[in-house]
Amino acid sequence: MANSKYEYVRLFEQDQTLLPNTWIVVRVDGRGFHKLSNHYEFAKPNDRRALDLMNAAASHVVRSIADVCFAYGVSDEYSFVFERNTQMFERRRDKLVSTVVSTFTAAYVLLWPQHFPSTPPSPPTSVNADAGPAPASHLDASHLPTFDGRAVVYPTTANLRDYLSWRQVDCHINNLYNTTFWTLVLRGGLSQTGAEEHLKGTVSSDKNEMLFSRFGINYNNEPDMYRKGSCVFREYETTAHDDDDKERSNAAAAAPLMSQPARDDNEETRSSDVPEPPLSKTQQEKQRKAKAKAQVVVRHLDIIKDDFWNRRPWILLSGGRPPPNKSVSVIQS
Ligand code: ATP
Ligand code: ATP
Ligand code: MG
Ligand code: MG
Repeated sequence: MANSKYEYVRLFEQDQTLLPNTWIVVRVDGRGFHKLSNHYEFAKPNDRRALDLMNAAASHVVRSIADVCFAYGVSDEYSFVFERNTQMFERRRDKLVSTVVSTFTAAYVLLWPQHFPSTPPSPPTSVNADAGPAPASHLDASHLPTFDGRAVVYPTTANLRDYLSWRQVDCHINNLYNTTFWTLVLRGGLSQTGAEEHLKGTVSSDKNEMLFSRFGINYNNEPDMYRKGSCVFREYETTAHDDDDKERSNAAAAAPLMSQPARDDNEETRSSDVPEPPLSKTQQEKQRKAKAKAQVVVRHLDIIKDDFWNRRPWILLSGGRPPPNKSVSVIQS
């Protein structure tokens, strides 16, 4: 086959290589999920099974693509962050995007029956409580779940943090709106158009007040997964006691080679912008093993404030590399 007279057509292939030493984010989003969620009768505004399925598919992506160091998801979308210095597919855009999208979609379809089983789970606890669980659904060929994808590069850690904050703020705004909207419809007896009219021009505090005074719902008691979205990442023992201040200093001590928090009034230090020197084969192999052993977890936490990142310096500050200190043992899954 090599050097056939047809070979020249290869020259038409135009690979786009993403800028070195930048954060690559691949975001996938469900195609036509508004319609799809109606077809499979997702509970409104939040179908727990559908969100768990998104999280399971994202966990599969993080486990199977070692260079993905963090993922954040809400509704029918998931953002996957690659280590800043990733050399996967020589950073070719098409290869990265298509691999993430197809790995995610394959897992979503494979895991569908586990999340939408033939025996429906007990009713969800939030505003959907009255609606009861939706009937179990097998996927049918006319409504197969598919996802689109795009890659965006962010040159600084501050830019990446702002991107993730943007998605989490979006989650908050949409969820507060949807929770109020569907409470007005399901419990308040309004039509969907009526609820829309009712909410026109309202701000967050109006919606909180409406939920509380008319329906006795304290929005802050809604599940974290709905209010904050979902984070998927490799967890190491340094963060075992999440809210313990001592633990934070342990995490810092465990990572002596890492720089201090990247964000100071939205700026980062110059040192974290400089590409890290390439690792030796042995170092690479060590890191591969540490990552493979690490537990991939799903958490619903605030990623806008610094705290989450300070506690887990290996996610962004070290470019996705696991903690270098041998004394930091890895949580076994
Ligand atoms: P597009 O193809 O342009 O992305 P879309 O119909 O998927 O169109 P989105 O803006 O992505 O539109 O919104 C996704 C929609 O899917 C939500 O508005 C909601 O109706 C539905 N949806 C997604 N996840 C859930 C869930 N867990 N529970 C209930 N509904 C959901
Ligand atoms: P990459 O991830 O870079 O694409 P690859 O292993 O998929 O790597 P390809 O160049 O795409 O490599 O080649 C596909 C390989 O898959 C073939 O060389 C062959 O070994 C195998 N293969 C594909 N289809 C078949 C098939 N129908 N029967 C047997 N082997 C197959
Ligand atoms: Mg969509
Ligand atoms: Mg969407």
